[in-house]
Amino acid sequence: MTHTTRRPGTTEVPESTEASEVTDTGATFACHDPATGEPLAHYPVQGPSEIAAAVDRARAAAGRWSALPASRRRARLLSFKRELAASLDRVADTVSAETGKPRQDAELELLLALGQLDWAACNAGRVLGRRRVRTGLVAANQAATVVHRPLGVVGVIGPWNYPVYTPMGSVGYALAAGNGVVFKPSEYTPGTGIALAECFDAAVPEFAGLLAVVTGGAATGEALVRHGVDKVALTGSPGTARKVMAVCAESLTPFLAECGGKDAVIVTADADLDAAADAVVWGALGNAGQTCAGVERVYAVREVHAALCEKIVERARVLRPGTGADAAYGPMTMPSQTTVVERHVREALAGGARAALGGVESLSAPFVAPVVLVDVPEDSPAMTEETFGPTVAVNAVADVDEAVRRANASRYALGAAVFTGSGRAGAAIAARLRAGAVSVNSVLGFAAVPALPFGGSGDSGFGRVHGADGLLAFTAPQSVTVRRFAAPVDLTSFRTPAAAKARVIALARRLHQRR
Ligand code: NAD
Repeated sequence: MTHTTRRPGTTEVPESTEASEVTDTGATFACHDPATGEPLAHYPVQGPSEIAAAVDRARAAAGRWSALPASRRRARLLSFKRELAASLDRVADTVSAETGKPRQDAELELLLALGQLDWAACNAGRVLGRRRVRTGLVAANQAATVVHRPLGVVGVIGPWNYPVYTPMGSVGYALAAGNGVVFKPSEYTPGTGIALAECFDAAVPEFAGLLAVVTGGAATGEALVRHGVDKVALTGSPGTARKVMAVCAESLTPFLAECGGKDAVIVTADADLDAAADAVVWGALGNAGQTCAGVERVYAVREVHAALCEKIVERARVLRPGTGADAAYGPMTMPSQTTVVERHVREALAGGARAALGGVESLSAPFVAPVVLVDVPEDSPAMTEETFGPTVAVNAVADVDEAVRRANASRYALGAAVFTGSGRAGAAIAARLRAGAVSVNSVLGFAAVPALPFGGSGDSGFGRVHGADGLLAFTAPQSVTVRRFAAPVDLTSFRTPAAAKARVIALARRLHQRR
């Protein structure tokens, strides 16, 4: 690793030398404690030559890695997992220092990431291994198989809000599928990215460099996209996804985009309102609302709307942001996000919304106390744009049909939740939602099930991480046919008489007409 400064939590911070451009000449950038703004450490702004070296090294290692039988890759990835589990305290310290999230939240994030890594390691052989497929009548003399092969080197560009769990959805799955990975963590969480790669190198030293980390901001990310990687997996905002996709288009590099959300929760008349209120408060305020699939909108049927609001406010009013052990959540990690949250709250109130808890006065950067807004106009930014802060809008709807219509009327479609009297009714509502993942009678239930694919559509991006789809995302299928015997009528030879071909065509046509 090439970072030159301390780990968060130690001393000796060099003078801040903020750098905004990619150079190979030793420029560095600072990573700050979001609660105090104090620099935590400095990291190199890595540029084209460092990225080229990291990609080359990962590619060389990936050649050997992909040649291993799946069982041996699995054994090594489980070593990586064990190393990460053993380093949990150290990595959680770094996550907590860089993001400002409570230490226990960082631990929970790591546990979820370990579950993802475990699933990817243990299922790659089964999901990607060679399998036979039926040949059909015309090719009955062939044996046909398909195998999913690694792409080579995957460029992973990560966000800061879940700096282990989120990238692991790409890093762990790309490695399990037999690829090398060059990972550019967010410029807000470089130390976390480096810690992941250090764990890999410690656990699997013979493949050191297979998982490489490059540090820097947007320009480093763009340089990575331009450096001949075989796929790019970005988790970030839709604006960044558009820029990265445009660069990928130049070289036809495949692209996977996990972007933001504006997740809705639907609450029906027969729902357990205490459970719904608990879940809404946790889903909206946890991690200071900085969760891609966090709760941002609630649609409750009119009969229960007032009671639900009361329960939400009752639970939210006792929570406070901060840095101490009693803080429910931390500061806004990215200072500029406070401005977005403020604009959403201000415009909602100006548009006629009522603040059931808090308001503009809840903002005291970098902290934002809980805000519960009611009757928010549907065209207000608080309902249409990702807020990414500890606020929630709770609107009344006439019935489930209106709730579904409003939930779907977003340019985002990532996650959603339904609170209702029965699981079966909830599943029926889920089937009507555009969201890529839906939890019934819980929030973010899908995030803890590694076998479930995760991803969205519209401004939430495209492609899937996690589960079998998440492994397939980092592979290309190769189809193989092996001729078992000569066909009675060879359709791929100029020497076969036209009359014989005509008989086969007529027979096949009759069969297709029958079913
Ligand atoms: P961001 O888009 O600002 O940055 C994401 C990453 O992209 C960073 O590493 C950044 O340095 C890099 N980047 C920025 N511009 C780039 C460019 N032009 N070329 C290449 N790389 C570039 O997002 P963020 O603020 O780090 O993360 C928050 C966003 O991520 C939110 O919208 C959130 O909803 C989303 N998110 C989505 C998921 C998901 O799984 N769908 C998970 C977590 C976060």
